[in-house]
Amino acid sequence: MKLKDIGEFGFIDRVSPLGLIRADGVVKGIGDDCAVVSLEGSDYLLVTTDLMVERVHFMIDWTSPEVLGAKALAVNLSDIAACGGRPRDAFISLAIPDHLDVEWLDGFYRGMSDLARQYRVNILGGDTTKSKSDLIINLAVTGLVGRDEILLRNTANVNDVIALTGPTGEAAAGCSILTNSPDLPDHIAQPLVRAHLSPRPHVKEGRFLAQSHACTAAIDVSDGLSSDLAHLCKDSNLAAIIYEQDIPVGDNLIEAAHMMGMDPLEWVLNGGEDYVLLTAIMPEMWSLVKEQAISNGFNIIQIGKFVQGRGIQLVGDSGRSEELEPKGWDHFK
Ligand SMILES: [Mg+2]
Repeated sequence: MKLKDIGEFGFIDRVSPLGLIRADGVVKGIGDDCAVVSLEGSDYLLVTTDLMVERVHFMIDWTSPEVLGAKALAVNLSDIAACGGRPRDAFISLAIPDHLDVEWLDGFYRGMSDLARQYRVNILGGDTTKSKSDLIINLAVTGLVGRDEILLRNTANVNDVIALTGPTGEAAAGCSILTNSPDLPDHIAQPLVRAHLSPRPHVKEGRFLAQSHACTAAIDVSDGLSSDLAHLCKDSNLAAIIYEQDIPVGDNLIEAAHMMGMDPLEWVLNGGEDYVLLTAIMPEMWSLVKEQAISNGFNIIQIGKFVQGRGIQLVGDSGRSEELEPKGWDHFK
């Protein structure tokens, strides 16, 4: 059997029972944005880790070392944000190929450290080794969240509002622009490329939602809207209805798709690496949450609701609805 036969999630299901030796204190093991551990006191400990491999996750000549260093940390902070947490400390391990010089690595750490400072996160250790070909980057980040604030994936309820803290698809559009180098005006291409290279982790949004006590579940959109919504549905044992007309789509993305002969909805639904939060909000709290989010300086956009059943229905602009298959990122497929 090959990994592509079972996929990334099949592989995770296969190995995860082997890890849980001692269940005491483990609130969430494998299968959410962070592992959640119960210690003494009123907070849970969050732990997340992400692996980035050259030529799989990034091309080294697409970006400056500073930008890559910041992204490696940002994607981990996004998982802490998805659990409503406050990020604390980071640990970084690198497998470094010969062709990278010390000045490049200085830049990488400078970029990571600048972002770490913005979020008051320490970088406290890790490991370094030689790599025979590609650069391999692993970060682990810890965080804390109040026991009564934690946001998980399996706790959405029927009728909860499905909402996004930002648009999806822009990072995928940016990646496609970097891959295919289409002839696009800079004012359209640059913001999309930036969305791919420099995602902003929605830590502020995650903290706001955790403290609102109106958010019942959350995930960060890393695999793609269709796949990450499918994770929320499956884990919460619910179905979802989302409305095409309510899904936020930026003008630059529409313009780029048009000029590149692409379907904008393909990026928006299946793109991935958006690092916005996809959340479930109690319906009776929705208007208050929306209003308070705006007064806190960010937007939250309703795209549908959770219902009884299985799967995701996408209601098109014509009113016709179709089953939306999760077609986002799966590493082995
Ligand atoms: Mg995640």
